[in-house]
Amino acid sequence: MKVFRSLVLFFLVLSLSLTVLSCTKRGTEGEVKSGVKQSESEEPPPPPTCPICGVEGKAEAVSRRPVAVMVENLSSIRPQSGLSEACMVFEALAEGGITRFCVIYVHQDADNVGPVRSARNYYAALAKGFDALYAHCGGSKYAMEAIEQWGVADLDQFRYPKAYWRVKGIEAPHNLFTSISKIREVAEDKGFDGNIDYEGFSHKPDASLGSRPQHQRIVIEYSSAPYRVEYKYDSGSNSYLRFNGGKAHLDKVTGKQLQPKNVVVMYCPTGMLDAKCLDIQVVGSGSCLVSRDGKAVKGTWEKKGVDSPLIFVDEQGKEISLNVGQTWVEVVKTDTPVTVEETATATSQ
Ligand SMILES: [Zn+2]
Repeated sequence: MKVFRSLVLFFLVLSLSLTVLSCTKRGTEGEVKSGVKQSESEEPPPPPTCPICGVEGKAEAVSRRPVAVMVENLSSIRPQSGLSEACMVFEALAEGGITRFCVIYVHQDADNVGPVRSARNYYAALAKGFDALYAHCGGSKYAMEAIEQWGVADLDQFRYPKAYWRVKGIEAPHNLFTSISKIREVAEDKGFDGNIDYEGFSHKPDASLGSRPQHQRIVIEYSSAPYRVEYKYDSGSNSYLRFNGGKAHLDKVTGKQLQPKNVVVMYCPTGMLDAKCLDIQVVGSGSCLVSRDGKAVKGTWEKKGVDSPLIFVDEQGKEISLNVGQTWVEVVKTDTPVTVEETATATSQ
């Protein structure tokens, strides 16, 4: 028995010593790792990428302050200009069942963006989350108060008309256009910061061609048929062809159909500020559906405050990585009908 106890004691001591040794070793490995890091740092750093869409670009282009432009989506004025060059587009109801876009640009300077229309408080809250230079033409009284109160970098056309132009032959108010470089120039003249430290979204490589499903279709019934939004997944390009009001939604400048890489449906509690003005709660959290690679992932959107960035997390609370390229975020009411059709994956990964 005594021999047995001694043996147990011996193994205990041995095990403890090994643990101590292993901890010490880990410490040593940490040092070695930092040594490796040092040698790695001699290699060229990875190319800079746009914090919002993940596209590679020049450091000076991707570190610029985001620009957010309010663009109208009245069915009779489609197609709009400059949407295909955006990093991210938010679509939400303005009023009367008509949606409007808050269009975010960082790494590309679209030369022709519009028609530019007025602000609402919830678009301003989204723009403020990017600390964007906010381009719009006036706004609801709630929006104008919020812009002032939240310290939004305001590039209102009424205050800075130099950044905008009106196109002859198009009826007002649908004839106001801007360019991202003009917005940046005027912002610089007026002393706004042109660069900010913005972390952005996490990105991942596309799913391999063989693992992509053949079909996914997302239909969002915002209001009436002219405002029905439909995305048809194209497995070859791993992107989503956008249709609005039953027609291919084009960019007027390029003539090409809008084709984001990611489509997010963001469910937001919606009420009324008065008889006319909607109050869409984009600060807080709610459920979302993130579609990329032909599949929808259920998750949660979170935006802790007006100043806070928006993120999408999965059911485990981990950020949902987006594919590199443009993202459309469809801000809908919690009871907006949304249909997602999916087929099984072509081959298992
Ligand atoms: Zn970008």
